[in-house]
Amino acid sequence: MTERSLADNTRAVIDRYGFSASKRFGQNFIKDNRVLEDIVEASCLKKDESVVEIGPGLGALTEVLSEAADQVYAVEVDRKLIPILEETLKGRDNIHIINQDIMKTDVKALTDGRPFRIVANLPYYITTPIIMSLLENRVPCRSITVMVQKEVGERMVAQPGNKDYGALTLAVGYYTKAAIVRKVPSSCFIPAPKVDSVVVHMDVLQKPPVEVEDEELLFSLIRGAFNQRRKTLLNALSGYPALDLDKEVIRKAIADIGEKPTVRGEELSLRRFADLAGALTS
Ligand code: SAM
Repeated sequence: MTERSLADNTRAVIDRYGFSASKRFGQNFIKDNRVLEDIVEASCLKKDESVVEIGPGLGALTEVLSEAADQVYAVEVDRKLIPILEETLKGRDNIHIINQDIMKTDVKALTDGRPFRIVANLPYYITTPIIMSLLENRVPCRSITVMVQKEVGERMVAQPGNKDYGALTLAVGYYTKAAIVRKVPSSCFIPAPKVDSVVVHMDVLQKPPVEVEDEELLFSLIRGAFNQRRKTLLNALSGYPALDLDKEVIRKAIADIGEKPTVRGEELSLRRFADLAGALTS
């Protein structure tokens, strides 16, 4: 299908069903074929692998995925889209449409234990919670390829010391190896969002790049450090209720890993956070 025909087709489907895109569900549909192809190529999907798509919308990406994958499990929360998907994807027997909220879906159970990848043009209102839930629940997929708001993508791959560096960066770096694949201007969507987007590909790691005894402590330190990112690490952590650590204990641990007492969380790499967690558990 040409770019023009995908855009026309999207409008035609919307008109035929009298469908109006819902802001509440973050509905911005891709109207550029090249973007669809780039997402699928970035996902590294192989013919014998399945894919879980989050939010198929009108089914444009789903259709391209169905050509590249074994089975496609498309999880869509908006029940108004289900009859539209059933019609636009009719005859494609490897597509399974599931009318559910992804945050309440057991993703692993969908694919019957077979190898799978996750691909999505994510709804902006819930991007970070979806990514964090997939990572923290260790959903056993090979990779996650997502279109996200440009600012979120930059946070996912930021370096220490950068204003975008934070808890999301560290979680993404702990569970995956991530890279921005391409930028996507807002003109590639119907309706056009206010911001540009990027496609991020994350290869899920078999083993995190740092070893820690207490993973929960590591993530409490990270959350505490960025909860009030303007503060020094010492003040941010000693005022963070979930940690419940004495200020002097934290001061000593920061000194033990060779950092200045005035260091800020945003200066610490994942390795240094792991060292700090180690100093607090030894
Ligand atoms: N994949 C389509 C495309 O690229 O044109 C639509 C992408 S649109 C940005 C996001 C889609 O996610 C919408 O179809 C929306 O209804 C759906 N969605 C929103 N919240 C969801 C949730 N919690 N679980 C599953 N789908 C959701």
